[in-house]
Amino acid sequence: EPLTTSALTITKTHCPYCALQCGMNLSSEGGSVVVQPRDFPTNRGGLCQKGWTSAAVLTTPGRLTQPLLRRSREAPPHPVSWDEALDYVTERIRDIQRQRGLDAVALFGGGGLTNEKTYALGKFARVALRTSQVDYNGRFCMSSAAAAGIRVFGIDRGLPFPVTDLDDADAVLLVGGNVAETMPPFSQHLRRAVDLGGLVVIDPRRTATAEQAALHLQPAPGTDLALALGMLHAVVADGHLDHDYISARTNGFEEMWRIAAQWWPERVERVTGVSAADQRAAVRLLARAHNAYVLTARGAEQHASGADTASAWINLALALGLPGRPGSGYGCLTGQGNGQGGREHGQKADQLPGYRKIDDPAAREHVAAVWGVDPAELPGPGRSAYELLDALGGADGPRALLVFGSNPVVSAPRAAHVAERLAALDLLVVADFVLSETAELADVVLPVTQWAEEDGTLTNLEGRILLRERAIEPPQGVRSDLDVLHGLATRLGQPAERFPTDAETVFEELRRASAGGVADYSGVSWERLRDGEQLHWPVPAVDHPGTPRLFLDRFAHPDGRARFAAVNHRGPAEPPDADFPLLATTGRVLQHYQSGAQTRRVAELAKAVPESYVEVHPDTAARAGLAEGQLSRVVSRRGTAVARVRVVPSMRLDTVFLPFHFAGDQRANLVTNPALDPISRMPEFKVCAVRLEPAPGE
Ligand code: SF4
Repeated sequence: EPLTTSALTITKTHCPYCALQCGMNLSSEGGSVVVQPRDFPTNRGGLCQKGWTSAAVLTTPGRLTQPLLRRSREAPPHPVSWDEALDYVTERIRDIQRQRGLDAVALFGGGGLTNEKTYALGKFARVALRTSQVDYNGRFCMSSAAAAGIRVFGIDRGLPFPVTDLDDADAVLLVGGNVAETMPPFSQHLRRAVDLGGLVVIDPRRTATAEQAALHLQPAPGTDLALALGMLHAVVADGHLDHDYISARTNGFEEMWRIAAQWWPERVERVTGVSAADQRAAVRLLARAHNAYVLTARGAEQHASGADTASAWINLALALGLPGRPGSGYGCLTGQGNGQGGREHGQKADQLPGYRKIDDPAAREHVAAVWGVDPAELPGPGRSAYELLDALGGADGPRALLVFGSNPVVSAPRAAHVAERLAALDLLVVADFVLSETAELADVVLPVTQWAEEDGTLTNLEGRILLRERAIEPPQGVRSDLDVLHGLATRLGQPAERFPTDAETVFEELRRASAGGVADYSGVSWERLRDGEQLHWPVPAVDHPGTPRLFLDRFAHPDGRARFAAVNHRGPAEPPDADFPLLATTGRVLQHYQSGAQTRRVAELAKAVPESYVEVHPDTAARAGLAEGQLSRVVSRRGTAVARVRVVPSMRLDTVFLPFHFAGDQRANLVTNPALDPISRMPEFKVCAVRLEPAPGE
């Protein structure tokens, strides 16, 4: 409950940004809001610069408070009433579906939306619009690790243990994650491993995290899977294989080994650039540790072979006998604030709530009963995020798109093409609290509430369910996304009670819909969360304590065993050549979050990192005729991003790095490759072929 004195209200809440969901208190007095860190297991009183400055997003000068509408693309948008905006959207949806069919209207959600919103969004798509065309930006974030977890363990929960378990680790292998910048308070959980000389970081860049490592392996972008196979080979060849664990708890080792046997470390050295000695040393560190962990993040996962690559790192953890052993394990570091919950409640193209498959007849029956509809009327699976964006406005693609909590003009790969597809739509509706780059293209913009102005739950990177309660009143004129969905659903003829606007009421329904599913929230209530209970799903009953640690006795496949994945190296979808001789990789910086729509509006953060840049080795820069501080063009087959040169001697000669938080011609995603992983449908954000040249006039 918020603590209220005569003039001051203090609310316990969590940061609006990343999946660590650091605890914070918000004090509001009059119109001003102050952030104070709060002791919570994930952050223990720490916050990063984004968290410290997050109150500024609440008072950002560009805050939208009135719906905007333009009836033709030539006309400028003008403010209208909510009724006029929602009536217009409803009328257009009706027309488009009448002329083009139900799938002509699509929805695009976000991994930062609360559990209640993601649940309502998926239900709105399937029940009110009856469209199969719904997916979300988490497809660009977590989907490869999720697919690998389901394949190997039978279940996907980012960390299947509390983050505080890492405090006792002697050795940690961190693959493709730069936690020192992306979630700085997380670094305290690696302190013991760092102090013992047990941190191994795999990253093509020498990041702030790699600086702390005893061993930094710097593979060429796109060769992570080969590196995992080489290290697996070293586990076997150097006598570190945990035979007892493999026979008691796993299947499929032999099939997997038939491939890994071909990847001896010296061969892998030739492909990745990581020495065989370093591969073996990293394996030794893990094998000799009492408590050891393998962690993956976006660097390993955002590839056209991302699901196989994440699977290969899990294979390594299994070979060492780590997952499900107390004090050891494998985990994936989820990125977005509700990256975990966002993929559990039905906003994904192939899913229903409870992390159920949409083509499973029993799942359809269960969820349809909760929704009070006929299971036969529920649509089947739709297109994945990039495929959906790519199809917009095309002959068979959706003609209308409703976007909630996402900014694909900046965050989607091949961004110029995505903007073209959005422009080809008959109707683009964006619900946001600022005029994001995607909202700028919209026919209708709906101004919505943000984190501290609304109630809702999120599920953090450990599968821990958190309650964020309203700390301040929203500005006049804005509505919650739940209000928007209610307003549209009722106009489309749905009963009002089917789309409640109160988040706790939505959560009560979500509990029933998730009951018996993989991500079972049926035993979670807001009352338990308000009482301070720390609940990690599954929580199948109201007297169940939750499940902080998975896999201690069994994995989630029917036979209780983990399955090694027989995966092989494929290399980048777009190898470098004479025209595009360099490999570009993308990532984040400390001061900005995702597409930057929020953090670029916080003065302190914008001042610290005001524009994009490209990190280049000095020799590579010299060959391109570029020097420190010059503006350059990073050119790929899909487009050109403008970025200021930062000469970084630790960069690989063949690699350049771009942060992806910036807009306009600085968008890193103008160059990225939308080649998709065949299993997860993850685009290849982390590697594409480019060349560097001076920008005109430089
Ligand atoms: Fe914590 Fe992440 Fe917020 Fe930084 S951005 S304060 S690491 S939750």
